[in-house]
Amino acid sequence: MDYKDLADLIFPDAKPVEYYEEKYPERNLKEGAIVTRVAPSPTGSTHIGTLYQALIARTVARQSDGVFFVRIEDTDTKREVEGGIDNITGSLNYFGLGPDEGMVSGTEEKGYYGPYKQSLRKEIYQSFAKKLISEGKAYPCFCNEEELNKDREKQEKAKMRPGYYGEWARCRKVTVEDAINKIKAGESYVIRFKSPGNENRKIQVSDVIKGKVTFPENDLDIVIIKSDGLPTYHFAHCVDDHLMRTTHVIRGDEWLSSLPLHIQLFKVSGYKPPKYCHIAPIMKNDNGNKRKLSKRKDPEAGVSYFAEIGVLPEAVKEYLLNIANSTFENWRRANKDKSIEEFPFQLNKMSVSGALFDFTKLFDVSKNVISRLTAEEVYNYSNEWAQKYDNDLAKLLEDKEYSLKVFGIERNNSNKPRKDLSKWSDVKDNIIYMYEAPTEFDYDKITGEDAKRVINEYAKTFDISDDKQTWFEKMKDVAEKCGYAREVKEFKQNPDKWPGHVGYVSTVIRVTLTGRRNTPDLYEIIQVLGKDEVEKRLVK
Ligand code: GLU
Repeated sequence: MDYKDLADLIFPDAKPVEYYEEKYPERNLKEGAIVTRVAPSPTGSTHIGTLYQALIARTVARQSDGVFFVRIEDTDTKREVEGGIDNITGSLNYFGLGPDEGMVSGTEEKGYYGPYKQSLRKEIYQSFAKKLISEGKAYPCFCNEEELNKDREKQEKAKMRPGYYGEWARCRKVTVEDAINKIKAGESYVIRFKSPGNENRKIQVSDVIKGKVTFPENDLDIVIIKSDGLPTYHFAHCVDDHLMRTTHVIRGDEWLSSLPLHIQLFKVSGYKPPKYCHIAPIMKNDNGNKRKLSKRKDPEAGVSYFAEIGVLPEAVKEYLLNIANSTFENWRRANKDKSIEEFPFQLNKMSVSGALFDFTKLFDVSKNVISRLTAEEVYNYSNEWAQKYDNDLAKLLEDKEYSLKVFGIERNNSNKPRKDLSKWSDVKDNIIYMYEAPTEFDYDKITGEDAKRVINEYAKTFDISDDKQTWFEKMKDVAEKCGYAREVKEFKQNPDKWPGHVGYVSTVIRVTLTGRRNTPDLYEIIQVLGKDEVEKRLVK
């Protein structure tokens, strides 16, 4: 009886690994092409961290003429949520991060290196586990939960490292004969990896982002195949990324400490390990403490939140690139009109520690993204958003022709387009006065009877057909007539001579017509409101 008999007994039908090596050959790509992936578990709504990883993975794959694929890691059946895969693939598509290969919906996939859903790869893992068993590099373990718990308690008491290693790895010593007998007798078991490592030896690994990191070698005999026949993450990662010919594993840095194990798994299996790129997570400042974004506590941790508040996917991606590479901001400044796809992303320039999620910055980025859109695009996006999330806004936007004029203010043909919108949920408040006359007037420096006089004088001279120059001259005339300086400059030189200047006067008109002290260009607003509406609003 030898290891091979044991392996045959455990996995009688498993194909030889050569079958899979041939089925999934080395990829024929140009030198330097990066093959990478995002490998989420379908455990609920999509986390911003998954989007972040997908964006980075897809960007580096694209820029190197490589491949970006989506693999669904659903071997932890207890954590799986119904519709979880659709949620992930739907989110990736919504953000324009669809893959070259892999899962594209809950049930469909594309590409030649699949299946891309781990639960459909059971036979593949078993083949690879069988190979390890037959080489004496993995073995069945019959320890039950109770025994393992007892060992852990003993380890804790003795202040020893917890885990299945060295003397604690009891089933390592079970002979092949005994193992075969136990299996034949129906005992339940898992498959463990027989680690060749030694805690006292160090290994140094080079992470593309974190740089050189030194760890003690792994000496834990971890479970590779669970009692349900499915693999653990560690083993599935090794088999899948080997067979899918992944060159770069881009993943969250919570996996950094598993690196000694993963490298060992690759080496013992006889495969070249991929390059590892461990990304620092996006963080949140929680009363002075930095912590990871949590789906339970922070709405922005779920990617659907951005659709709900109406931030464009493009803006979210641009913001994430800001976090990912500090050189992005300068690049954007120098390349205002370029698509973010053109940004020369550098994986090795990513920050080692987690950046804070910053709404101010996101909205700032988003304002710029929206400022580059045409009135028609702003209309279409706002309308689409309103149909889903805001009935009142949808009603306002029913008059498309008028709404296009409203969105065109300081946008159409403007080389300094307005930047007062950062999300579609801002739109209603931003444009409401173009549809409904204001009812509250918080005048600034000129108030009461004085304001009334300004309004009356303005109403007398108002002519919708005035060009901008004439319009402003008339505003100055009104200022002069009411006792204010015509020019700001002359007022500043001689501030005691007048109670104020033309700016005070135009504020009165602005507040009267819009209810706001700050608006885009007042002349354009008047043109869009039209003669009748302006005259109506000027009656005081
Ligand atoms: N399923 C793992 C996770 O969601 C994937 C890690 C990896 O990318 O290898 O964290």
